[in-house]
Amino acid sequence: MKNEPPVVVGVDIGGTKVAAGLVNAEGEILAQNRTPMLTLGAPSNGLAAVSTAIQGLFPGVSSQNQIAAIGICAPGPLDPKTGVIINPPNLPIWHNYPLAEEMRRVYNVPVRVDNDANAAALAEGKWGAGRGYQNFFYATVGTGIGTGIILDGHIFHGKTGAAAEGGHMGIDRNGPVCNCGKRGCIETLAAGPAIARRARQKLEKNPNSVLWEMAGGDIQTVSAEMVGRAHTANDSVAKEVMRETLDLLAYWLGSIIDLLEPDAIVIGGGVSSLLAPFLDEIRERWRGACINPRPLDIPLVLAHYGENAGIAGAAALCE
Ligand SMILES: [Zn+2]
Repeated sequence: MKNEPPVVVGVDIGGTKVAAGLVNAEGEILAQNRTPMLTLGAPSNGLAAVSTAIQGLFPGVSSQNQIAAIGICAPGPLDPKTGVIINPPNLPIWHNYPLAEEMRRVYNVPVRVDNDANAAALAEGKWGAGRGYQNFFYATVGTGIGTGIILDGHIFHGKTGAAAEGGHMGIDRNGPVCNCGKRGCIETLAAGPAIARRARQKLEKNPNSVLWEMAGGDIQTVSAEMVGRAHTANDSVAKEVMRETLDLLAYWLGSIIDLLEPDAIVIGGGVSSLLAPFLDEIRERWRGACINPRPLDIPLVLAHYGENAGIAGAAALCE
């Protein structure tokens, strides 16, 4: 099928960069390209940055006739039905911007837009760790916690597309203030920055922790990744931090299980490699964290897609 042209393009728009990839029907990323996102000036500058990222996938030829469909993940809030970007705090160049419509005008192909966690969840269901599960919960744990709910094989959007913000479920009304403005969201208690913060707080009283050495004596440079390495080295501070983090994540997921009783839970994101050795420990904690009589029947698995989850997710949005 040499002349089989069109491919699906997945575009992942962040606050500082645009990543675009060619994705085949098996969810394999055949090529990808990254460019800086333009964040100032006219809204069309942002569109131009997206087009530059896409054109980079088609060296020497025009991209226009090569593409079957375009999927885009963009920072929310957005309307997945209309593809309008509403007013994302980390992408102020677009305000009520009809991204899908503008892209359709340029490329004359179907365009779908959704947020990155919803899209990544769909990609896991189609091609990754969620394959074979009709209903599952997806969480990407990194600098924040994004989540997606797949019901009957489709993204659950809620009334306006704002559903499935599981990272901002409050689990401590008196907890620290989250980036979203609420207190005690699981994101502000258990994502990467929270893991690092908890380690820093404990280091003051633990001058013998290997984390001091890893951080070169500068407590501000302690990261979640360092906590993982220190845990491997049997460091007591790292062990305490991980125990607390697992408790919090298990407690949160226990509530998710009581709410959804999903077929599976899929965990991705930059912190998932740190959590990978502890998945069974999280599951064991579900017994006291939910009223579901059989929580251990629910698999907790690592996502298939890593840093390309956005590209794959965007492509998965296309039928
Ligand atoms: Zn929050």
